[in-house]
Amino acid sequence: MATENIAFIGLGNMGKPMALNLVKGGKKVTAYDLNAQAVKELEAAGGKGVKSVSEAVAQADVVVTMLPSSPHVQEVYLGGGKLLASAKKGALLIDSSTIAPDVAKQVAKEAQAKGFDMVDAPVSGGVGGAQAGTLTFIVGGSEALFEKAKPILSLMGKNIFHAGANGAGQVAKICNNMLLAIHMIGTSEAINLGLANGMDPKKLSEIISKSSGRNWSVETYNPCPGVMENVPSSRGYEGGFAVELMAKDLGLAIEAALSTKTATPLGGLATSLYRMHAEQGASRLDFSSILRFLKKA
Ligand code: NAD
Repeated sequence: MATENIAFIGLGNMGKPMALNLVKGGKKVTAYDLNAQAVKELEAAGGKGVKSVSEAVAQADVVVTMLPSSPHVQEVYLGGGKLLASAKKGALLIDSSTIAPDVAKQVAKEAQAKGFDMVDAPVSGGVGGAQAGTLTFIVGGSEALFEKAKPILSLMGKNIFHAGANGAGQVAKICNNMLLAIHMIGTSEAINLGLANGMDPKKLSEIISKSSGRNWSVETYNPCPGVMENVPSSRGYEGGFAVELMAKDLGLAIEAALSTKTATPLGGLATSLYRMHAEQGASRLDFSSILRFLKKA
């Protein structure tokens, strides 16, 4: 299967560095985003920018989408974006957005009915992982399609997992992100307690990182400004994983819990905390800013 020409739709915090890694991997990348500035930046780095989804996908062997949420994916694939109506026959479609598993299944079904191969391939690893090309991809689709998508995903990520059939990538991803929200809040709560009791947050984070409270939020994505370089907390919580997107993912986890009558008490509490934080004006800040919310509480 030819994979030379790749269309990339959605050049946000994650999509832009992912598309850049495809350019670095020798692919011809044609990209579109509603935000013209993001398209210009990709062009400056060697990609080709166009003015619509249809134009981006027309000659592409592979299409990658990295959009905020379910309605955006439905709009691009099935609605005004006309992706399914414009893509080249036989193209492989990869949606890396985090969306509802049912929507992932519905879009894949419609894509298959039109003769396309499609997988859901949401990611973990944050903007740092997207820039470094070390993302984890969690793929939903047949084993054969997983093998087909793997060489492309390997240009943007390090760990590529096959979760199961279409939609399974999204199920695994929302379970992961519910846990991420919970340990980010727990980490912030612990650091805030240390701060209130005179502890140096850097020293405290070092201690926790080598003790039983160890986790990704404290070790790799510390929420306290000044503890770590190159993380959103040390640049005013800008340019990471938005609070509104975390609240969206928690909403997906709660929907999945309700539909299967599964108890997720901490997931429920995390959802409320992130919703309250978003409503107080933090929706575009990075989700580690929950420490700021707790400090004010
Ligand atoms: P973002 O909001 O920074 O970027 C989304 C981009 O999609 C924007 O540039 C926007 O203009 C574009 N877009 C929206 N509608 C469009 C349309 N109709 N046509 C073309 N472009 C359109 O979001 P992000 O942080 O890059 O996240 C993207 C997805 O990845 C989300 O589903 C998110 O949950 C998931 N995710 C994000 C992170 C992270 O750390 N930021 C980590 C893992 C997964």
